[in-house]
Amino acid sequence: MSTDPAEQPKKINSASAKKIVARRKIPIDPEHLATQVINGNKTALSRAITLLESRSKKHLASAQQILNHCLNYSGKSVRIGITGVPGVGKSTFIEALGDFLTKKGKKTAVLAIDPTSSQSHGSILGDKTRMQSLSVNPLAFIRPSASSGSLGGVAQHTREAIMLCEAAGYEIIIVETVGVGQSETAVHSMTDFFLLLKLAGAGDELQGIKRGIIEMADAIVINKADGENKNAAQQAKKDFAKALHLYPPKTSNWQPPVMTSSSINNEGIRAIWEQVEGYLKLTQDNGYFNQNRKNQNTYWLHQTIEDAIKNDFYENPKVKEKLPEYLKQINDKKSTPFQAAGKLLNLKK
Ligand code: GDP
Repeated sequence: MSTDPAEQPKKINSASAKKIVARRKIPIDPEHLATQVINGNKTALSRAITLLESRSKKHLASAQQILNHCLNYSGKSVRIGITGVPGVGKSTFIEALGDFLTKKGKKTAVLAIDPTSSQSHGSILGDKTRMQSLSVNPLAFIRPSASSGSLGGVAQHTREAIMLCEAAGYEIIIVETVGVGQSETAVHSMTDFFLLLKLAGAGDELQGIKRGIIEMADAIVINKADGENKNAAQQAKKDFAKALHLYPPKTSNWQPPVMTSSSINNEGIRAIWEQVEGYLKLTQDNGYFNQNRKNQNTYWLHQTIEDAIKNDFYENPKVKEKLPEYLKQINDKKSTPFQAAGKLLNLKK
């Protein structure tokens, strides 16, 4: 642990001494924290993820050091994305899947991307007490969505959190999201297998499901196939399987299955996992799995650069000051959007 004596003020009163002690209580030693993460210590893993999400430059620097230490240990998991509208049963399903996987001895981590939590305080995914039994399972690690920042920022943190979870020995990483904004695209581009949970009986528009999401899915699961809903679920499964054949074949060569589950009764979970295993076998054999991960790395490199440049531009105080003025000029027909953009882009810091 490093404590830098140069940082000590010469004379300190007792109040500031207390503050310093409080601040120093758990000093950050990135190397030590990274070792603890690699040893599978959940508290260290949580702390490291918190550092990633911090807005403080010092914390971010520590987080990057931790990531560097963990890099060699990452990449070895299977990453599963799960999406579906609120109420479809995502947390119940993940709890059932997590239970199934941990009983097989597989360490499972659950991360979430919830764009609603950064837009308002009413988060759809994060606030509820969710996955109660999985959260106390020693083989599971659950981390709710970061609560602030743009989707790009939250997605980057999640991507880095995946790497930390992998370094901590989690073999299965589940990334959950709601069908809001572009969050499914973000989750799809950081996972190996993308699963869409649906309900029988309600149209796609009603369920807020966009065509693009169906194209991204590697499996569609009609949840709540129990009680009075059982027949409707079976019918929906047939209809969907027919409809899916009309979609163009996937680059992975995988034909996405349509299945049913009852998460509250633990039904369908094993069969769904067998499909995931089938997918892994196919895509690892035909090279798609590795190629897809490489493509994802390329995508995230460019995405991070774009986000950083955009952020830098909009945070420029001169841009902040001039933007409303130029908007007014456009509305008053004194300037075109392109001329105004040109002027804004030419503003120096
Ligand atoms: P989420 O918002 O997508 O995470 O959905 P939840 O997992 O919180 O589930 C929403 C509600 O649906 C809860 O009351 C669950 O008990 C219920 N539910 C979840 N899965 C099933 C299921 O398979 N069958 C039935 N009948 N209810 C379910």
